[in-house]
Amino acid sequence: MLHCLEMQRACKRYLFDRQDISIGFWPDQYHTLCNTKRISTAPIDVPEFEGWMWDKYERTVVMSPYLIPLVVSDFQFVEAEAGLYRLPVRVYGVPHQIANGDGDYAASTAAVQTGYLEDLYETEYPLSKMDIAGVPDFLYGAMENWGLITFTPSLLLYTVNVSTEQERGGISHTLAHEIGHYLFGNVVTCAWWNDIWLQEGLTTYASVFAWQHSQPEFEPIKWFHVDAFQNSLRTEELGTSVGKEIGRASCRERV
Ligand SMILES: [Zn+2]
Repeated sequence: MLHCLEMQRACKRYLFDRQDISIGFWPDQYHTLCNTKRISTAPIDVPEFEGWMWDKYERTVVMSPYLIPLVVSDFQFVEAEAGLYRLPVRVYGVPHQIANGDGDYAASTAAVQTGYLEDLYETEYPLSKMDIAGVPDFLYGAMENWGLITFTPSLLLYTVNVSTEQERGGISHTLAHEIGHYLFGNVVTCAWWNDIWLQEGLTTYASVFAWQHSQPEFEPIKWFHVDAFQNSLRTEELGTSVGKEIGRASCRERV
C-alpha cells in the first residue's frame, strides 16, 4: 500500500496556522511521514478500527498548506552520514532499492547541499529534519514539501554500475533545486501563483551554486547560463508562451 498526498495545485497559498498535525486510521503494518518528526503512534481505541493507528507529529513552523505532504507506506530509509549536516537527512524508498544502496548518493548529496545553502542564504533551515521520499508513479518530477520532499524515483535513486552519469547529475541538480526552495517558496512564499516565477527563478539560480559545491565535477556554473538562456529563447518563441505574470484569472483556470 502506498498513499501520497500532493497539495501544490489544489491547495493555494493560504497561511497554515494550525501547527499541530495528527494523522489517523492507518493499518499498523505501515507508517506515515509528514513535515515534522512523528512524536507518537497509538492504536485507535474504537472497536471497528482494531489494528489501525493514530500518529501525531511535532509542531510545524507557520507555513503554506500546499507544502503539507503525507506519505503512508512501508518505505525504508537511509540516513546521511553523521557530520555532513547538523540535522538528520533521510532518503526513503521502496525497501529493496534502499537495501541495494540506491538512496545513499542522494542522502549524502542532500546533506552537503543543505548545509551549503544555509551558509549561502544566511538563513537556517527551520525544521527539525529533512526527509526525501522516492514515490513510485509520482505525478511530478519532484516537489519541495517542507521537511518531506517528494520525488519520482528516477530523479532520486542512484544505482551503482547501472545509473548513468547524466542521471547522477540530474539527481544532484534536482535535489539542489528542491532543497533550495526552503527559503524561496517555503520561508518566503508568494502571495499568489502569478508570482511563482520569482521563487522558481531565485531557487533555480541558487541551486546552481549548491550543485557546484556538492558535485563540482559537473561544472554547472560554467554552462548553466547558456543552458538557461537558450531554453528561455526556445520557450519564448512558442505560441503558448505567457508573460511572467499570468494574472489571477489565468491562475484560477490552471489550478
Ligand atoms: Zn521549483
